[in-house]
Amino acid sequence: MMQMLTMPENEMDGMTIEEFFGNTFEEFRMTPTWQCFHTMLAFKDYHSMIEMKRYMIRFIQFQPRMEVLDGILHTKYNEFDSLIDPILHWLTEKGVHFVPDTTVTDLEMDAGCTTVTRIVGVSGSSALSVPVQAQDMVISTLGSMTQNSTYGDNTHPVQMNLSTEKGFFSVWEKLAARDERFGHPEKFAENTEATKWMSAFVTVKDCKAFCAAIRKKYGYPKDTTTGAISVLDSGWDISFVLYDKYFASQAADEDILWFDGLWGERDGNYIKKPMCDCTGEEVLQEFLYHLDMLEWYEKLMPRTYVSLAMMPYITSQFMPRSSKGDRPSVIPEGSRNYAFIGQYVELEGDVVFTVETSVRTAMMAAYGLSGIDRKVLPLYQGQYDIRWLVMCMKKMLETDEIKFSDLPPMNPLTMKKDVQGLLAFLNATPSLSWDDKQLY
Ligand SMILES: Cc1cc2nc3c(=O)[nH]c(=O)nc-3n(C[C@H](O)[C@H](O)[C@H](O)COP(=O)(O)OP(=O)(O)OC[C@H]3O[C@@H](n4cnc5c(N)ncnc54)[C@H](O)[C@@H]3O)c2cc1C
Repeated sequence: MMQMLTMPENEMDGMTIEEFFGNTFEEFRMTPTWQCFHTMLAFKDYHSMIEMKRYMIRFIQFQPRMEVLDGILHTKYNEFDSLIDPILHWLTEKGVHFVPDTTVTDLEMDAGCTTVTRIVGVSGSSALSVPVQAQDMVISTLGSMTQNSTYGDNTHPVQMNLSTEKGFFSVWEKLAARDERFGHPEKFAENTEATKWMSAFVTVKDCKAFCAAIRKKYGYPKDTTTGAISVLDSGWDISFVLYDKYFASQAADEDILWFDGLWGERDGNYIKKPMCDCTGEEVLQEFLYHLDMLEWYEKLMPRTYVSLAMMPYITSQFMPRSSKGDRPSVIPEGSRNYAFIGQYVELEGDVVFTVETSVRTAMMAAYGLSGIDRKVLPLYQGQYDIRWLVMCMKKMLETDEIKFSDLPPMNPLTMKKDVQGLLAFLNATPSLSWDDKQLY
């Protein structure tokens, strides 16, 4: 772990997590650190080591209390109800014109790729061709982790969408073929066998006792959103979250829970087939089996709706990449009127698979192109706060007191200095708490 934190990113170019850890990976795989990291954040052995390193540094401040997600900000409801819908209404009131049911298929540019000249696509059943005027700005994503998602239900397994039409990833491929500045989309969006996984959304009506029993079992207070709970011995690699209230329109007698199966292509332990071949009813049985709550199945089934989702590109943003060149900048060099936002642009020090990254890149794009002099939301720099570092060290070592043998191998010159003083300093370093609102 120390080597990971100190190794420069460019020495990890294209490297997977498994490759970095080499013959220590089997041992590392069994540690709570990897088990939490893998199940809660959906990282797999073959994902990018650069991204893992960034996550470890970027969220170092959450690690001391990761098991209860202490410090992580939750929206009141899901992101659509809490963020997208209010923003949509607000912008509509301001006169922003949204065109639904529209797919962009290309951004035409001038010969030097400095200026977008036309947006091409399909709107409804008509061809779309929007000339871009000199004063216009074009801000686009480069792809979506939920691209080509498909759904199943109680009685239908989910069918994976294998189409080569993949929304903005296809546009990105066209751009990248024109100019090296636009990076390498094939690193992210070409191997759906590696980037896919499945989730299940379970809505239970008129049976509050069921979720109350789960909360009681795992020690959560009544009517709370739980942390992500990982089922370590699940063949499908299930982790689940129980929500207090997930949808703004959720009725008082409805409970919502969500789980994923990161290895859904493997056989289940109770239902002996891959998650992707199962109906919602079968998926629910496998889940109940792992909770040792199979006796609830008959009662639940008539009042439960299971929505299955297969997301072919859900971890595309985690695929191995180089530290430079695979992802374009928000405003690529030479751009006169266009910028890229979302999860596939290069943003120094920041991570992907977060709403925050999409917001930050959008701010950078809007301010940068329009020349508005405003500061972009800064990254929280927990890695420079010795208090978090000491708390993390204690957490990983599962100790309250750091001893000499816990210290990483030190330079002989440093060793001669006051090691006892160093230990005393580390052990006297006060802890931090996310209850301290000044941290936000
Ligand atoms: C199951 C799951 C759990 C998550 N959990 C968390 C979490 O706990 N915390 C967190 O911070 N983040 C989480 N995320 C990630 C977060 O939701 C995403 O990073 C974020 O929503 C990405 O926003 P975006 O606007 O960049 O892209 P998207 O939300 O993917 O939006 C891209 C949009 O572009 C559209 N589009 C695509 N192609 C075209 C085209 N050719 N023409 C026109 N439109 C097109 C798509 O339809 C879509 O509406 C999670 C994501 C998922 C799927």
